[in-house]
Amino acid sequence: MKPENHASAEAWLSYFTELKLSPFYLERAGRAADAVETPVECSPSTGAPPKQPEPSTPLRRVVAPNPFTTPTKTQTAVPLPVIRSASLFEAGEHIANDSLERIREDIGDCKRCRLCEQRNTIVFGSGNPHARLVFVGEGPGRDEDIQGLPFVGRAGKLLTQMIEAMGLKREEVYICNVVKCRPPENRAPEPDEMETCSPYLYRQIAVVKPKAIVCLGAIAFQALYGAKQSISRLRGQWLEFRGVPMMATYHPAYLLRNPNAKGEVWEDLKKVMAHLGLKIPSKS
Ligand code: URA
Repeated sequence: MKPENHASAEAWLSYFTELKLSPFYLERAGRAADAVETPVECSPSTGAPPKQPEPSTPLRRVVAPNPFTTPTKTQTAVPLPVIRSASLFEAGEHIANDSLERIREDIGDCKRCRLCEQRNTIVFGSGNPHARLVFVGEGPGRDEDIQGLPFVGRAGKLLTQMIEAMGLKREEVYICNVVKCRPPENRAPEPDEMETCSPYLYRQIAVVKPKAIVCLGAIAFQALYGAKQSISRLRGQWLEFRGVPMMATYHPAYLLRNPNAKGEVWEDLKKVMAHLGLKIPSKS
């Protein structure tokens, strides 16, 4: 390898190690064997990360196994996400001063997975780039695919109401999805699609550096928690994604079908409000 490429490669590797993204290139060979999906949880830690108010319940640290495998199917190696900048080495230099603009540029006119075939628009994310709160959804639906913005359809209107009920404006938070292209017929994203797109989500979170993340539904939870889990079992608990307190709750689309679950979501959001120091209405 040429010396200049070697230096770039080192910068690239150390950046990814810092972001804890390194396993995606180191562990490719090991993924076929990574069949155990139950997350390994260390003993509960008592505090939130430095300089953040303590969540009302302790955080649970998660050592994530490969989030994109399922325990029931025979494991096969999943393709690596391909970073389509001029070269892998240049990508390292890009990421060293990462920004949302840079991530969007890296995504480019993405053709890394089959979701590109039927999408109209890549839905990157929207909101405050320095938001204290990030909401992560599953993937764009029809309206989002047309407008190029996340959560602008019926579920999005409900999400906006939820955000406003928290005493926030939509522009104050950051909203994005696990996959940036609409899955055909609004099906759930496939594991390889999630794996291809998730590094961009992780970079978005790393750049925004929120004080809390809300995972909307099981797909977002799987992408960030590291394993498929029942949302009804794990919602409402403080977990952690790379040092950021994370709360899972039901997806707004689920609430449209099951309005009775709105109360549970409100309970979850109140915990997030308490963590962010937002005033909780006394009668709720
Ligand atoms: N559902 C999602 O998960 N994301 C969107 O952007 C819209 C609907």
